[in-house]
Amino acid sequence: MTKFFRTNDDSPDDEELEEEIKTMYPGFVYRVSDSPALPQVPMHIVVPFLGRLRFVRDWNGVLLLAFVVLCFMYSIFTTTFIIILPQYQDGNLSGPFALFYGFLNVMCLLTLLNVSTMNPGEVTSQDTDDYKDPAVSSYCKTCHLNRPPRGYHCVKCGHCVRRMDYHYTWLNNCVGADNHHLLLLFLVYTFLLCLTTLTLVMFHLYKFPKCISCDREAFYIKHSIWLVYIQNILCVIIGFQTFVSIVVQHLNIIMNRTILENIFLSPVYETKKRTKFQAYAELFKTKSVWLWFFPCRRKAMAVPQRGFFHP
Ligand SMILES: [Zn+2]
Ligand SMILES: [Zn+2]
Repeated sequence: MTKFFRTNDDSPDDEELEEEIKTMYPGFVYRVSDSPALPQVPMHIVVPFLGRLRFVRDWNGVLLLAFVVLCFMYSIFTTTFIIILPQYQDGNLSGPFALFYGFLNVMCLLTLLNVSTMNPGEVTSQDTDDYKDPAVSSYCKTCHLNRPPRGYHCVKCGHCVRRMDYHYTWLNNCVGADNHHLLLLFLVYTFLLCLTTLTLVMFHLYKFPKCISCDREAFYIKHSIWLVYIQNILCVIIGFQTFVSIVVQHLNIIMNRTILENIFLSPVYETKKRTKFQAYAELFKTKSVWLWFFPCRRKAMAVPQRGFFHP
């Protein structure tokens, strides 16, 4: 059987590769070879209705995630209090459109909460019995576990992740087999929100009349032009970034690749031919297309099978 992934025998090559990657991608944190350092264990908090939330102990990640949430809060405040509410009260904006804007915000925040706090697919001792064959699996010296093919050790999370896509510092979480669908949903909803907000901003600047019913003495109405310009710049930057990410993720999903496999130039993973629908059904773990759009915490298929998640 072809050896697709690195094992312990490859350690010297891995170190060379790691050095090369560090030069090519400064700040890159993954280790193909394993570290003897003690693993950082993510914190877990149980919240009623939301379940077990997971937080990676990485200050850079916490600050970046806080910045992402702050951008959302700024956007919600500016659009709601400067554009939507005054124009709705003046009769220039329809109720359903305002509701659609609210719906997009709720979906964005829900997917952000889920993708950043869900276990990405930690390799546990229960998984390892299925992956004893060194030809397809590798041994992690930090976790002391056999990890499945396509699994990598993440030093920030402190454990191995099944079919790891990448550790997204701005989400303060890894994206792997269990939460990959949430990342895609978050990107899609954020892109739609950027488009909707940009449309509202353009109408505010060039079409809507000055608000009549609003409190003109309020700070945010007095300085609305600057607040809206900043909003516009944020939307263009985030909208462009999410669009590029959606295209990259779409190509990876249909070609059965991950970001890490592209960076490490791993060989193309041998898999049965899949249609685009099958690729997305495997990613979202259900064939019901209408369920794809809800940010549910669906777990990966329990039974290892040849295909997207397992060899
Ligand atoms: Zn590990
Ligand atoms: Zn990670």
